[in-house]
Amino acid sequence: MPIIKSTSNANILKEAEILRDKLISHGIEAEVDASDITAGKKFHIWEIKGVPVRIEMGEKEVAENTYTIFRRDQNKKYKIEKSNVVKVVEDLINKDIPKELLDKAKAIYSEKIVYVNNLEDAKTEIYKGRVAKAIWCEEKVCFEKISSLGPSIEPIGSLVGETKEGKCIACAKAASKLTLFGRTY
Ligand SMILES: [Zn+2]
Repeated sequence: MPIIKSTSNANILKEAEILRDKLISHGIEAEVDASDITAGKKFHIWEIKGVPVRIEMGEKEVAENTYTIFRRDQNKKYKIEKSNVVKVVEDLINKDIPKELLDKAKAIYSEKIVYVNNLEDAKTEIYKGRVAKAIWCEEKVCFEKISSLGPSIEPIGSLVGETKEGKCIACAKAASKLTLFGRTY
């Protein structure tokens, strides 16, 4: 993201394009936004697009041999040495950001999903905004029984590779398929 003011236009833009090509040669998708709108608007547009890393380069950065990096996943900005930029971006894209997203997803997953073995508990948990994990037999009649717990409650996905010997939450027949129940919107 070149932050351009009239006098510095050509140099900063050139530098941005060189860096873009260098990143691309390292297998990183990169673009220069040289459009003529305010920096704030540019930042917003690219954040909405989901671009994980922004490199800001303005007169100050270029003079100090630094760039400002913005990490979308942490909503944080910090300065880096110009000479490290490719390594920093590679680490962010390939390691740090995927790990952060995975950790967040895992935390949400474990907090939201609660194992239950009866319909009453399933209903209670779902009404608390959680997802109930339970064994069921996959029969239509049980689907209906579970769905009748409340508006838009239904099985929302089975857990691939996860089974547990037990009884169907609805009919109490022996079953082993673990499924998530919750509200669908
Ligand atoms: Zn059943």
